[in-house]
Amino acid sequence: MIPSAFFSACRQFASALLLLITAASAHAAPKSYPYSIITTVGMVNDIVKNVAGGKANVTAIMGAGVDPHLYKPTRDDVAAMIRADVVFYSGLMLEGKMADTLVKVARNKPVFAVTELIDEKFLLEPPDFGGHADPHVWMDPGAWAKCVEAVGKRLAEFDPANAAAYLADATAYAAKCGELHAYGKKVLATVPETSRVLISSHDAFNYFGRAFGLKVMGVQGISTESEAGLQRINSLVDFIVANDVKAVFVESSVSPKNIEALVGGVKSRGKDLRIGGELFSDAMGAAGTFEGTYLGMLDHNITLVARALGGEAPKGGREGKLHDGR
Ligand SMILES: [Zn+2]
Repeated sequence: MIPSAFFSACRQFASALLLLITAASAHAAPKSYPYSIITTVGMVNDIVKNVAGGKANVTAIMGAGVDPHLYKPTRDDVAAMIRADVVFYSGLMLEGKMADTLVKVARNKPVFAVTELIDEKFLLEPPDFGGHADPHVWMDPGAWAKCVEAVGKRLAEFDPANAAAYLADATAYAAKCGELHAYGKKVLATVPETSRVLISSHDAFNYFGRAFGLKVMGVQGISTESEAGLQRINSLVDFIVANDVKAVFVESSVSPKNIEALVGGVKSRGKDLRIGGELFSDAMGAAGTFEGTYLGMLDHNITLVARALGGEAPKGGREGKLHDGR
């Protein structure tokens, strides 16, 4: 459980950030090309890169396997943000330990949350997250398409001379998100109804579950900051045994120890439970691989979950590019 003082501090950061962003963004424009953009997580970096085209060098602070809930910016990260022309982050308190740095940087340059255009009505508010929205919106490709649109709009404002190109690139990329969404719906609908349960390390998959019709349960809560209690593990073991769940999933950016405890607990009750594979939740795969892109990361998650839960999906995923399918 996270103390309420934490949430109140975050709320203050959020409002301060909004004011500073409005003030700083009015005066900015690229001084030369390629200009420099710094992003926080890989998923944000990928969409910004796709929308910016060759007009900017886009660099992510967090690489593969890094947990954004826990990440504290280093001195080099802060220096890179101060040198950059524009900064994009995901928002909704995903980068919980970067809030004060983002506020400072936003005093002098445009700093944007890609989730800024998402309708509040769309957002999920899980009971254990202090009245705050669940930040894992990239898990629904339809919602991430909205974030792509926000990036297009902000870059068009920052660099009006190239506005048409940014908006066209954003539209083209958003269409790809739509195709991926349709693929996910199709293959996950082949999972037998009683097996449509996705259990993983932490609550990163609520939007994924809503988009694709799966019940979702995490061992840890929305943020990996709070430790999972023995009680949570025991209640999940009860659920798995009672519902005959066959597979659970580890996540690339979270320690597998809780999932291993679940497997051990279920086995001690005389049932078999296997680890269905590793999902990309809060970080993408290795740079230079298909899974190291947003579209590849989601294709991997959709395809792996569908296959592990007894559904039908091509091993190589929607585009035949997944590592296991090669
Ligand atoms: Zn998370």
